[in-house]
Amino acid sequence: MDVVVIGAGQAGLSAAFHLRRAGLEPDRDFVVLDHSPRAGGAWQFRWPSLTYGKVHGMYALPGMELTGADPTRPSSEVIGAYFDTYERTFDLRVHRPVDVTAVRDGFRDEDGDGARDGDGGRLLVETSEGVYATRALINATGTWDRPFWPRYQGQETFRGRQLHTSGYPGPEAFAGKRVIVVGGGASGTQHLMEIAEVAAATTWVTRREPVFREGPFGEAEGRAAVALVEERVRLGLPPQSVVSVTGLPLNDAIREARASGVLDRLPMFDRITPTGVAWDDGRTVDADVILWATGFRAAIDHLTPLRLREPGGGIRVEGTRAVRDERVHLVGYGPSASTIGANRAGRAAVTDIRRLLARETAAATV
Ligand SMILES: Cc1cc2nc3c(=O)[nH]c(=O)nc-3n(C[C@H](O)[C@H](O)[C@H](O)COP(=O)(O)OP(=O)(O)OC[C@H]3O[C@@H](n4cnc5c(N)ncnc54)[C@H](O)[C@@H]3O)c2cc1C
Repeated sequence: MDVVVIGAGQAGLSAAFHLRRAGLEPDRDFVVLDHSPRAGGAWQFRWPSLTYGKVHGMYALPGMELTGADPTRPSSEVIGAYFDTYERTFDLRVHRPVDVTAVRDGFRDEDGDGARDGDGGRLLVETSEGVYATRALINATGTWDRPFWPRYQGQETFRGRQLHTSGYPGPEAFAGKRVIVVGGGASGTQHLMEIAEVAAATTWVTRREPVFREGPFGEAEGRAAVALVEERVRLGLPPQSVVSVTGLPLNDAIREARASGVLDRLPMFDRITPTGVAWDDGRTVDADVILWATGFRAAIDHLTPLRLREPGGGIRVEGTRAVRDERVHLVGYGPSASTIGANRAGRAAVTDIRRLLARETAAATV
């Protein structure tokens, strides 16, 4: 195999589209693997009340517009159906559900001449359908599979329910309950505004004072935000979330929620008790539910054997290429973790990989 793509979300499908356009044949030259049951990437798991109309700035995949979608339908259905049509239209033949458990360097030099033997120049992708030996890898595994739960003293003693955004079922489950929402990002504010309509009480707790952004978010602001994340990745640090650099957009719903007190925020509590949370100054809040809207991390544990991580915990990339291994590209990672970024990253990775493959082929024929 020339290229294995792991993940069939926005980033993986964009890469597959560009591989196909470059003349590579699915199942012969490249393969796309995804461990989720259906088309849609992480969108298929998003809660039903996240309607298509509430999704902001969803860019269509390359080569096919998403038009006429009903804004009141769940984004999981709209985008799932769109991705499904996309895969069939471009005949991308995604293998699912296929789990990638590890990627290893197949380096072998059994004759001791310093050159790689046989498949030794290949990466070995271990999956639930066997091992693929590949010349290049496009990793497009997103973040949904790695929800981030911070740890607080007393957490295990809490007698109520704790859940993360990744398991948020929609507001109905919180009717009549006292709910603490932790986290100052877009998901946290959306959960709060929905839950406040049906809950007995809500409390919002964030580590930092949330930053609300007035005015439009144009191309210049977008570029500045991407540059900030890029800088972290260049330094080998784990990428941070987009909201942490863009702030929360002030729309009418958020203005209303702020005016009604739903978005009055408390600083982070110091510990969790059997009945709620407590601060060192003696303040307490009782709760039935703690909802952790504390974000996600890159789902890249399967790349661990390749030792791509820097001491800072992140993987340094140049464009989309891992600095420590030119055969590996990360798309939808760090600065490209948005629908538009994922589109561009897919194309950039394919351009770079074609160059690598052509160079190898030229070297082999000399
Ligand atoms: C709640 C929420 C709302 C968002 N709203 C927006 C928005 O409005 N606009 C926007 O631009 N961005 C938004 N984003 C960010 C958005 O998710 C990304 O921009 C983009 O959709 C991610 O695409 P992806 O292909 O990188 O990842 P994903 O869509 O997560 O796809 C990754 C795929 O990889 C698969 N996978 C993971 N690990 C493995 C493995 N080991 N083996 C096999 N398969 C694997 C998964 O099954 C999944 O299908 C939002 C994110 C969240 C959490």
